[in-house]
Amino acid sequence: MVMNLRKIIQRYKLKNKKDEKMKKVYFKTFGCRTNQFDTQVMMSKLKDFELTQDETEADVIMVNSCTVTNGADSSVRSYINGREKKNPNAKVILAGCGSHSKGESLFEDKKVFGVIGHSEKEKINEILKYEEPFYQIGDLKHIDSTIVEEFVGKSRAFIKIQEGCDFRCSYCIIPSVRGDARSHNEEDILTQIQKLAANGFGEFILTGTNVGSYGSKEGSSMAKLLKRMSMIRGVRRIRIGSLEPIQIDDEFKELLSEPWMARHLHIALQHTSDKMLKIMNRRNDFKTDFDLLHEIADKGYGIGTDYIVGHPGEDETEWKEAIERVKTLPLTHVHAFSYSKRDNTASATMKPEIRGNIAKERLRELTALVKTKNRDFRLANNQNLEVLIEQGRDGIYNGYDQYFNKIEVQSKEDIVSNWILVDEAEVDGDKNVAVY
Ligand code: SF4
Repeated sequence: MVMNLRKIIQRYKLKNKKDEKMKKVYFKTFGCRTNQFDTQVMMSKLKDFELTQDETEADVIMVNSCTVTNGADSSVRSYINGREKKNPNAKVILAGCGSHSKGESLFEDKKVFGVIGHSEKEKINEILKYEEPFYQIGDLKHIDSTIVEEFVGKSRAFIKIQEGCDFRCSYCIIPSVRGDARSHNEEDILTQIQKLAANGFGEFILTGTNVGSYGSKEGSSMAKLLKRMSMIRGVRRIRIGSLEPIQIDDEFKELLSEPWMARHLHIALQHTSDKMLKIMNRRNDFKTDFDLLHEIADKGYGIGTDYIVGHPGEDETEWKEAIERVKTLPLTHVHAFSYSKRDNTASATMKPEIRGNIAKERLRELTALVKTKNRDFRLANNQNLEVLIEQGRDGIYNGYDQYFNKIEVQSKEDIVSNWILVDEAEVDGDKNVAVY
């Protein structure tokens, strides 16, 4: 990680060693990677406080909340209720997506001392000095000046390049708690990448809420950013967190044969039944998805997707059609989820709802199917694997190849953070194995 929590705390301790009176702040983060990035933004802005990993000794507990489902809301609420026993004197401050959905009621019920919205994160050092309760929700147009990076080992970095989403998928609360899509300044992103590449980072993973919308309002595009990134000395491989099918245009497709493009794309389909895609208010349809995925797979790519099963309306007929269609797609990876209700979204009131056990069974069927596809793909693509080793010790190391398949490598040398070329790997269960 760029700076994992332990390192950040150590740095603060060293810096502030002499100041015994500094108030201690504990961060509790819920939810996705974006929230984890936001916690890092807040931590990086704390100048007059000390970070702690022990919530019982904290003067302030920052709850960076998630509100993606009703279940996520309950987890945040029960954490806030539970901490009263653990540390009744700490001031609790709510941040994150839950501030925008549940902040007002938690504040009115005096469950939290303060509430801050996404746009207020970077002012945290001043906000934490407030003596009176506060509700500072800000706006949903702001984009942080801090571009967060997260490091895996010493050679792979995640870079958050945009925030928010203009899509309005029926099941999703994100646009109303994170706002519309907006992008980080391109020059700032490139400067950051330049610095990291000069320090030995070779692989970059671009992330955000709706990454593929990068630059659409700023006169740029994902393809333009990629081209500029690729010209930076030291940039060896670029991955993109996730793309929507309609964001893959001709300009982007032209880059598919570039050597620095990882041979894996994550394309969020969410479903393969057109009726379901309509209900979900998605912008893709199966026929176009089918053509697109085959076009990309034909260029030697592994393809992953997100898929929601058990959304209201997914009756037996729709599911049968959907799973038959998945069989025809060149998928190699899937992030499959069972639908989970989120109040204040269009899907929350839709009927008929799908019983949990049925959704679970569909999830199992889908993941098993894609697992088989992944294995077939690995059997056909087990040679000339370009692997970045992320971790390991005592002769066993792990990394990912260009197709985003996991590989375990036996080596007598310490090869952590090295790029290695595997002539031929053996397919073993869920991963590949090789000797180097
Ligand atoms: S694309 Fe749809 S699912 Fe993804 S963040 Fe936007 S609204 Fe939510």
